[in-house]
Amino acid sequence: MNMIIRTETRLLAPIIAAMTLTLLTAIAGAAEQPSLSAALPSVKILATGGTIAGTAPSPTETKEYKAGVLDVNRLIGSVPGLDRVARISGEQIVNIGSQNMTSEIMLRLANRVNEVLRGGETDGVVVTHGTDTMEETAYFLNLVVKSDKPVVVAGSMRPATAISADGPLNLFNAVSLASNKTARGKGVLVALNDRIHGARDVTKTNTTNVDTFMSPDFGCLGYVLDGRVSFYRTTTRRHTTGTEFTIEGLAKMPPVEVIYGHADGSKELVEAAVRGRTEGIVYAGAGDGSIFELTKEALRDAAKKGIVVVRSARVGSGIVTRISEDEKDRFVTSDTLNPQKARILLMMALTKTRDIREIQRIFAEY
Ligand code: ASP
Repeated sequence: MNMIIRTETRLLAPIIAAMTLTLLTAIAGAAEQPSLSAALPSVKILATGGTIAGTAPSPTETKEYKAGVLDVNRLIGSVPGLDRVARISGEQIVNIGSQNMTSEIMLRLANRVNEVLRGGETDGVVVTHGTDTMEETAYFLNLVVKSDKPVVVAGSMRPATAISADGPLNLFNAVSLASNKTARGKGVLVALNDRIHGARDVTKTNTTNVDTFMSPDFGCLGYVLDGRVSFYRTTTRRHTTGTEFTIEGLAKMPPVEVIYGHADGSKELVEAAVRGRTEGIVYAGAGDGSIFELTKEALRDAAKKGIVVVRSARVGSGIVTRISEDEKDRFVTSDTLNPQKARILLMMALTKTRDIREIQRIFAEY
């Protein structure tokens, strides 16, 4: 029996080798064809670090690792077949863990995205980013990028050195999505673990699992599976070319703090924020944005001093209901934005106005 198998394998070997050679020649030929590669869309990868660029001391270590180690060319090199999806170029913006993201870096990144897409040679942009603050940067880009071309933010939950690292496939899918015409005009997208999310609604929901990004209220926009893109819905809120915001000439963002609500709330954090340089406070309230009584007094005082107070919720989904008291207190409500997204929108709103009614209008439209 063994001998028969061995004999057959020996006989089949030259045939398999010839078939493999034909296939490889066909693939290489196709890749070399100037007409084909010129027809490929051009995608720029702007890298900022994160776990996708992270390394650990061993392949079984997925938690104790250093984020933001590998550069953009190493990321591109780790994805077989990427050059058959798009003409790729890479650029390193920063190489950090996204817990260290700052609004200065966000501004630099957004300016670069706008520059690249204005140039006309690039069909789409992929931003690689740590997952911790990915939703904040993605929402910021969603408000200030002035292009209909796809901008896809992607990352990974496991470092590049891990067994079953999720980075290479996430990057392959992100580039496929950024190359896809159906992704145009849909606002900034976040793509991880086969799902496509809108930047406004997506949030990280699990500390360590690869299936961590969800859009709790409204669900994902679609899927990207092995590079194949399917959309099922789009956002109805203003984004990218449809926003009133601009970062042109903006040197820095107005400072805004998030204060987290809890039992035994006090005045202290609010008063400290008021003493500091803050121009706005987002309060992550309990339930429907409820505020502990003592903290509410401090927030009312802050609002009287001209600091814009936004009542948001720590719950994770749902609308923060606007009540008649909000008018009296001069509080803005965050609609369905979570506190960290409300902070981004408030910063952008403060670049234009301090009028509470105007800011409430902005929260209803974005
Ligand atoms: N701490 C990492 C970061 O946000 C986590 C990750 O990328 O998954 O950069």
